[in-house]
Amino acid sequence: MLSCREVAARASALIDGELGLAQRLRMRLHLAMCRGCARFVAQLRLATALIALAGGEEPGQDPSRLAAILDRLGHPEGGDGT
Ligand SMILES: [Zn+2]
Repeated sequence: MLSCREVAARASALIDGELGLAQRLRMRLHLAMCRGCARFVAQLRLATALIALAGGEEPGQDPSRLAAILDRLGHPEGGDGT
């Protein structure tokens, strides 16, 4: 199994879709068992999305895109309502 440090090092690659299938599965396996890393990846995903919004396009220019991002952020790990 991947260590927490390995997961942290690859988290942004995972979010960017840069990992191959095998690595993605190993990441998911770890995230399924490790709450700390699952939380870390969820927060990194949120930060990445916000940065993309801020740097890429004008927020509000495409409300459906913003809604889609917020919808995805709403349940990153299957959700416990937070
Ligand atoms: Zn971990």
